Formats: sequence, C-alpha cells, structure tokens
Amino acid sequence: MGLLDFLKQTGDSVRNTYQKMDASVKITCKKCGYEAKGYELIENSYICPNPECRNYYRMGARDRIALITDKNSFKELFQGLTSKDFLEFPNYQEKLKKAVSDTGEEDAVVCGTAEIDGNPCAIFVMNSKFIMASMGSVVGEKITRLFEYATEQKLPVIGFTASGGARMQEGAVSLMQMAKVSGAVKNHSNAGLLYITVLTDPTTGGVTASFAMQGDIILAEPKALVGFAGRRVVEQTTKSQLPDNFQKAEFLLEHGFVDAIVPRTELHKVLAKLLILHKRRV
Ligand SMILES: [Zn+2]
Repeated sequence: MGLLDFLKQTGDSVRNTYQKMDASVKITCKKCGYEAKGYELIENSYICPNPECRNYYRMGARDRIALITDKNSFKELFQGLTSKDFLEFPNYQEKLKKAVSDTGEEDAVVCGTAEIDGNPCAIFVMNSKFIMASMGSVVGEKITRLFEYATEQKLPVIGFTASGGARMQEGAVSLMQMAKVSGAVKNHSNAGLLYITVLTDPTTGGVTASFAMQGDIILAEPKALVGFAGRRVVEQTTKSQLPDNFQKAEFLLEHGFVDAIVPRTELHKVLAKLLILHKRRV
C-alpha cells in the first residue's frame, strides 16, 4: 500500500496536508527544479521523484506519523495546550495565530502512543512548519509529559526532532524547557527504558543541546542539518574555514554524534527492528 492510500485511510489524523495536496498543487524542488504534483510527493514519502535528485522535503508531523506508525494505531495525547504570550513580545500573538491557521496544529509538536509493526511506543514529532518548530513552553511541556507517561506505562519513546531552537518570543521560559525535558528523559532512562531520536532537517539550537542528543540510539535522515549555532557564527567565532558538509548528518556520523543515517523509506523497518531488539522481557 502506498503512503497515499494509507493517508486516506487514516483520515482525520492527516487532514491538513492530505486535503491541501490535491493533484492541482505543484511543488517545485528547490534542488533540481522538478515540478512534483502534490499526490506524487505524498506517494514518494516527500522525496523528490527525480531519480537523479532524491532531495528530501520537510514533512509535517501528521504525515510523518502516518509514514512511520501502524494504521489506526496512533492515539494523540496532551491536546489543548496552547502557547501564551508571557512577555507581550511584539507580533508573537499574530505569529502564533498564523502558524495555527497554516498548519491546523496547536503548537510545534504532536505527541501520542502508537505501534510500529505491532510494537507499542510513545512518539513525539516536531513540526518545522510551525514557527520552525521552535521550542517554547508548550513544546517542552508536551514532550516532558510524554516521557512521564512513557515511564509510567513502561514504553519506549521515539522522537522525531526538527527545530530552529528555543522560541525567542518566550525568552527564559523557552530556555527552561531544555532542563525540564532533560529531567524527564533521565527518569525514563533510569527506569531502563529505550529512547530513540531521529534527527530530521533542521535540528538546531536548544533542541540539539538537550533532548535531540540524549537518545540511547540517535538516527538521522540523510543530509539533515544538525547543529547548535549556525555555520556563520561558528566560522566567525573559531576564525576557521569549515568543511562543506559541516553540520550535515554525514559529518556527525563521521564524528560519532550519530549512530546511523537511515533513508526515509527504511525508517519504519529500522525502528521496528530496534524496538524488537530492545523489547523488555518481564
Ligand atoms: Zn529534486
């Protein structure tokens, strides 16, 4: 079954992209200029259909969940949490409203439980289409609650990270999320439970500096940008020339930050295998 059939059958949980991506929608590949029809992209797991190119498009959280989890197995948790404009930061409220209406999501992460080839897990997926998946109070709170829930239910956690970093419009509150989530990750780890992260393009800033890099197993999608500060900042600070593939998944693999780079089309299979290998024997 192609991803498209899958999306049709899972219905409500993928409503946003699925409804927008009819055959009349054409999306031009930034890398090779190939014009893909919306459906063609969905069927191709959001990889450029041009065999010479195979560029990875960024995926919304719901599409990712549909691609990775067993049909009808995803049960969403912690809905109804929305960001507050604590600091009355200029234009933040408008920005939030626009992100909500563009994506149909409440904030930049979707959490829940699901099965992958029949193996139960807790899962969170960050959504780069929502203010570049910046981490504010809601993102931190939902991921923390997911780890607490998974610890209680003795479930492994799979986390798809993508982020531009901390959400500056929430100031120190957004930075505090790094410590809060990390505490919950540690409690989950102390209970002997597995945490797998999948780094997707782009995973940067405070997310890289906390839970993206705390997985027991860290996977990445090919060519994903993963780093803390931006390339230019690192270049200026260290006054050195950086290699072309600096902060790419392949560079991180070479330097031991990533355990494996897994093509998008293989992710489901690899995650299922890892869950089976690490199944708790009671
Ligand atoms: Zn392309």
